[in-house]
Amino acid sequence: MVYKSPLKTYSNAKGEGRLFNVELVDSSGDINCTIFNDTVDTFFPVFEVGNLYFISRGTVKQRNGPKFTSSSNLYEMTLSQGSIVVPCSDEAGDIPVVSYSFRSLAEVSQLPDGELVDVIALLSKVSEVTSVPSKKDSTPLIKRLLTLTDDTGFSIDLTIWGETAEEWNHEGGNSVMALKNLKISDFNGRSLSTTRNSRWEFEPQVPRTHQLHNYASTQGLDNVQTLSRTVGSGTGPSPYKTLRDARDEATGAGGKAVFFSTMATVTFIKHDENAVLYYMSCPVPGCNKKVKVDEDTNMWFCPKCSKNYPNANARYVLNIKISDDTLSEFATLFNDAGEQLLGKEANDIRQMKESFDPELDFIFESIIEKRFNFKIKAVEETYQDELRVKFSIQSIDVLPGDAKVYISYLAESKNILEKITQLLSVK
Ligand SMILES: [Zn+2]
Repeated sequence: MVYKSPLKTYSNAKGEGRLFNVELVDSSGDINCTIFNDTVDTFFPVFEVGNLYFISRGTVKQRNGPKFTSSSNLYEMTLSQGSIVVPCSDEAGDIPVVSYSFRSLAEVSQLPDGELVDVIALLSKVSEVTSVPSKKDSTPLIKRLLTLTDDTGFSIDLTIWGETAEEWNHEGGNSVMALKNLKISDFNGRSLSTTRNSRWEFEPQVPRTHQLHNYASTQGLDNVQTLSRTVGSGTGPSPYKTLRDARDEATGAGGKAVFFSTMATVTFIKHDENAVLYYMSCPVPGCNKKVKVDEDTNMWFCPKCSKNYPNANARYVLNIKISDDTLSEFATLFNDAGEQLLGKEANDIRQMKESFDPELDFIFESIIEKRFNFKIKAVEETYQDELRVKFSIQSIDVLPGDAKVYISYLAESKNILEKITQLLSVK
């Protein structure tokens, strides 16, 4: 027995109930075993993680319903009052260990949202605890992001929750973690989240552990591609700069990007009939590659997946002009920031545009003359043989709870106070 869940309660049409589950492993694989209601008190004290058991008169049935574990077993087991569980001494041989079916982070980048996976990776970074309002009733949820990196050249954020997040006491560095039953989600680009059946261990005794340590010491972890969007709300603050200061800093910086935040007013948004508002992208989550209509099949062709799809997703590419008291500049917005700005998905905008919906103009006009707290990237690029600083908006701070309040007065006040302090200390 390699895992025992806490006691859980549930309620359905038949009323309330209790259950717990254990994971059983032998040399042939693993199986999930659930114990319900009256039987809980009989077996809960009997099972101890790491012990060997003889089990008889269990019931095995085909697995159905929602998938709670990444086990590849098509069957699951239940125990009833007639079942017999007898601990046996470990002279029977080696105690099997947790069985994982690891996926590399490169594979995770290609799997659909909602899929459960096991991964083994280096714990490269541990972020601070934050709290987010729950979707259900807005009560605050405690969470923490762990960044995992492996030798396929990718890193990804893993969200852990509640007490586990609060009491987390491992530091980021190069420990190897094996994790079971993580859920893939499309939060912040692509990320992983723990579920109630997730568990993990450090430095598991498997060859991959040594390979990963080797990779970390020879290659380092700097040149990896992150699957999770690390900019935007929830991550560290970008320094506050005016548009002019950011432009000046990026000028002559040899293509080094300047990340900053600022409050600016939207003075123009390109949305005439010739304006590009979005591009059509691959429907596979995480791919987002631009797709074209395949002339033969009339389907969408993705050059990255080399596949035709009947549907494609619109993703924003918007051009807006923003102004503060120092400068007026064009800036580009991509999908996530576009959704924050317009409060709609690009697919909705596409539908409105294709049906010549007059409402569309109002949506764009409603943004004009509004102020926002932007997080922006400024970088010097060659454009038509000329060097110029290009601005792209990474995210917009929209205050939770009230999408109509665009300006974070608290953040803005802090910025102004900081500036005043600076001015005073110059004297
Ligand atoms: Zn694709």
